[in-house]
Amino acid sequence: DHRNRVVLLGAGNVGKSAILKRFLLGTFTSEYKETVEDLFTRDFDVNGNTVKVDFLDTAGTMVFPAMRKLSITTAHGFVLVYAINSQESFEEMKRFWQQIKEERSNYQELPCVIVGNKVDLENDRQVEKFDALNWIYTDGFCGGFLEVSAKEDESVTDIFKTIYEQSRGG
Ligand code: GDP
Ligand code: MG
Repeated sequence: DHRNRVVLLGAGNVGKSAILKRFLLGTFTSEYKETVEDLFTRDFDVNGNTVKVDFLDTAGTMVFPAMRKLSITTAHGFVLVYAINSQESFEEMKRFWQQIKEERSNYQELPCVIVGNKVDLENDRQVEKFDALNWIYTDGFCGGFLEVSAKEDESVTDIFKTIYEQSRGG
């Protein structure tokens, strides 16, 4: 069909669900509820045409490898999330990216944004922006990079704008 599927991937607790909630509902909660898999559909008006987008919110690390694989093989675009206060989540994001490269031969054409969430926790920062950019430019190939805060509503809509712009260009 004509739907576009955007999949959010990343370690548990980095804020994937919070980012989607902020973007789709405009809300934020500080309680943590583990996700298994949630699908949200949203209609967007693009130059008078309705474009349906499915957003797939996934579980984090290591759980459900078959679901993880399916989410990668069915995606039209990726949002790869880590938290700037967790080096481990950055390493995990790189492993997700590695798996995308293995599963999708055309990965360089797929809309993709790497997102460092929780930028409001600057005092606990473990991942420097420079290191993230450096990795992206050397091994990354991903089409975009943003530091955001789902909590403070900082740059969250830019994630989805960036995905949309890449999907138009490619
Ligand atoms: P997920 O496992 O990746 O879906 O992570 P969640 O969206 O469930 O968020 C995990 C925890 O981090 C929750 O307690 C959220 O309230 C919190 N959180 C999410 N985004 C932010 C953020 O931008 N800043 C801060 N300080 N906390 C956040
Ligand atoms: Mg979640």
